[in-house]
Amino acid sequence: MTSPRKTYIIANWKMNFTPGEASLYLNRLQKRIPAGRNPQVVLAAPTVALQTLSLQIDRRQCKLAAQNFYWRDYGAFTGETSISQIRSFVDYALVGHSERRYIFNESQEDIAQKVAAAIRNGVTPVLCIGETALERKDGETAAAIYNQLTSGLHEVSKEDISKVIIAYEPVWAISSNKNAKPAKPADIEKAQMIIRQDLAHLYGKDIAEAVPILYGGSVNADTAAGYLEIEGIDGLLIGGASLIADTFCAIVETAKRIKNER
Ligand code: PEP
Repeated sequence: MTSPRKTYIIANWKMNFTPGEASLYLNRLQKRIPAGRNPQVVLAAPTVALQTLSLQIDRRQCKLAAQNFYWRDYGAFTGETSISQIRSFVDYALVGHSERRYIFNESQEDIAQKVAAAIRNGVTPVLCIGETALERKDGETAAAIYNQLTSGLHEVSKEDISKVIIAYEPVWAISSNKNAKPAKPADIEKAQMIIRQDLAHLYGKDIAEAVPILYGGSVNADTAAGYLEIEGIDGLLIGGASLIADTFCAIVETAKRIKNER
């Protein structure tokens, strides 16, 4: 059955690439990927590269995302960048990534405020949620998902939930994790069902069906197809494998083939 939801392939470059390197990557990407919105290709570039890329990017081919921002719009917050300062560069913003939750101690409250700030500024938040290895071992996956989802969406009304994307990223599967293990499609399908049930509980079944749910965690060019075939998964968030433009392009091509075949 064809999904009514759009497919997203998002590169998370993390703290890699200078503006010049980012620009060379984009140049390479734009020569290779066709214009079109399915899949919607998104580059979550470092903040320092966003302006350069936004001048160069062909938005018919791909769009930009912020990896991070502070949730207040302006003020005495030395060293911070607000989403209102970069909203003309980006269409999307990652929020609640596990590296921000666990390395930078971002609280559930910070995350909820960031989701609200993105929506207020016309930017689509990509809310990242997922259990740790310990939560998984203790059988607390569903509780961790519910907790992160309800707190992250605390400020989001029924009218605004259509402006949100959810990324399921089990922390134990993210490649930067020392003992990372790729997740099995069955685990991801189950988590996706839990997320949709939780969304239905919060906003109603029809609205829950319309929210895109992506998967992220050690995806590469060889495994992308298997993940994209999971029922209810609407795309991928890719860290390590997105750093090589040719690999990322190959994943975009796979997504185009699989999602347009359905
Ligand atoms: C991420 O950090 O969002 C991610 C999915 O990373 P990786 O693909 O490297 O596991």
